[in-house]
Amino acid sequence: MSSGLPEFVDPWRLADRERRFSDAVQLSELPRLCGALLSESGEAAFRLEFMRDEKRRVRIKGNVSATLVVQCQRCLGALQLDVDSAIDLAVIEVEEEAERLPEECDPVVVEEGLIRLLDIVEDELILALPQVAMHDPGECTMDFGDSAGSGQPGLPENSETTVENPFAVLARLKSTQDS
Ligand SMILES: [Zn+2]
Repeated sequence: MSSGLPEFVDPWRLADRERRFSDAVQLSELPRLCGALLSESGEAAFRLEFMRDEKRRVRIKGNVSATLVVQCQRCLGALQLDVDSAIDLAVIEVEEEAERLPEECDPVVVEEGLIRLLDIVEDELILALPQVAMHDPGECTMDFGDSAGSGQPGLPENSETTVENPFAVLARLKSTQDS
């Protein structure tokens, strides 16, 4: 845990006091995120501000930024992602309250009255990861499309596979029935 940041906080109390946190955390302290990363080195910087909105809801606003190393799903090499993600959460106690929230904010359900600050940061970074991470075309070591004839090993080149015409199959079936 870094520099005196409380681990669990009471969001209602913090919102009434308009508390702000600005800190950084080692990525290795975020195990759920690290499960999706190639490298656990580096840190994430974040800012979290607790406040009440015009409807007296508890809101947590801020942002988190980090450089994350994930695996390119095309070449399986390392891919560096610069993430800078805005946070806008509304604290709710039961799932049903989520339906009444304004569109710009996401619900965070706090059941036991406490929320873990690093979970907010970690969840936001996980949401910022692309479903399928890939290098930009020019930066990927696996280029396909215009490299025909270069005889790259390892590229599955199964264009020879013939797909039998379904009508031909039907015709053959029919002829065996007839005979
Ligand atoms: Zn790649």
